[in-house]
Amino acid sequence: MTSRDLLKIAFIQGLDLFGINALLRPYYAGLGVIFSLHRVVEPGTPALLTGDVITTTLLDRVLGYVRRCGWEIVDLAEACRRITSGEGQGFASFTLDDGYVNNLICGLPVFRKHQAPCTIFPCIGFLDRGREDRGMGARISRLRYGQFVVEYLLLRQECVNFPYADMSETHRTKTWEEKCRLLDMLLAIEWRDPIGFTRSLDEWMEVQGVTLDEVLSTYFMDWVQARELAHDPLVTIGTHGLTHCRLSELSVQEARAEMTVSRSRLERELGVPVRFLAYPFGGPIECGPREFALAEQAGFIASVTTRLGNIFPEHQLSMQALPRVCLSIVPHAASLRFVKAGLYGSRNAVMNRFARVITH
Ligand SMILES: [Zn+2]
Repeated sequence: MTSRDLLKIAFIQGLDLFGINALLRPYYAGLGVIFSLHRVVEPGTPALLTGDVITTTLLDRVLGYVRRCGWEIVDLAEACRRITSGEGQGFASFTLDDGYVNNLICGLPVFRKHQAPCTIFPCIGFLDRGREDRGMGARISRLRYGQFVVEYLLLRQECVNFPYADMSETHRTKTWEEKCRLLDMLLAIEWRDPIGFTRSLDEWMEVQGVTLDEVLSTYFMDWVQARELAHDPLVTIGTHGLTHCRLSELSVQEARAEMTVSRSRLERELGVPVRFLAYPFGGPIECGPREFALAEQAGFIASVTTRLGNIFPEHQLSMQALPRVCLSIVPHAASLRFVKAGLYGSRNAVMNRFARVITH
């Protein structure tokens, strides 16, 4: 556990121990909360990208805890109905981004156990395994698969020669700490120089005899699995775009295609209506008023961001910019207190400098 993780835990525990949760609840809990998740794995599954992972054990405890606290677990359509009508007691809605295969294999059985609905937002490029689809209206070369390839290879290797610019030395990746250190280093390069990084990554994969299909199949659902998930009565399908890119960097036409072409592809392939969007990278730099307007024009009932916040009646005027609370960012130790801080809105209040309604 890093010192940053320990700080987060101390912060969350402090909110509860010093009564701040209860104090802020009347002002910051609002109508409810939309939780966001990514990967759901069995306990003990090795994962270097820990910020994306929740275990089945923890998810089981979280769903039970939310109900025990008196919050009703509802699907996104019902959450939206409550926002626009301003009616109903506290709700919690669960969303899972990206379309990981473990959402079907590990996550769905837990949601079924609790009869709790959830919304899954698959990204078309991952479902297609990175293969070009001429009808997509987007360059698949934009697909951001770097972090998955890096984790996949680091988990399997004890030393690494990454063919990028001045990184000529061999890096030891035998221990967990060594793997984590190199992961951070490589992801920092990807952030700084995505094109150069992807070129080096492709070369590294070729040297290691690993294909993108193999890596993406390990992480993401295929269309058959997505169809199975989509037809479960507890599941709502939304779109997460075509290539998981930063929409703000695209032209208007391209950003619109990410939303509408991905939606029609999902509807056609899965045979279900797609009425919700989760912006791929939903922070203020990656999506803003232009993207919210495009989502509105595209006719989505609502779109979710990664801005941190609870849901208030005022959000009926900004249904294309709904904030969420990410559940998979704090290690197990603080988990239920973390959920409580999410339900009560107390963590958001502090993080947002006591702003209540977050829309931008
Ligand atoms: Zn995503």
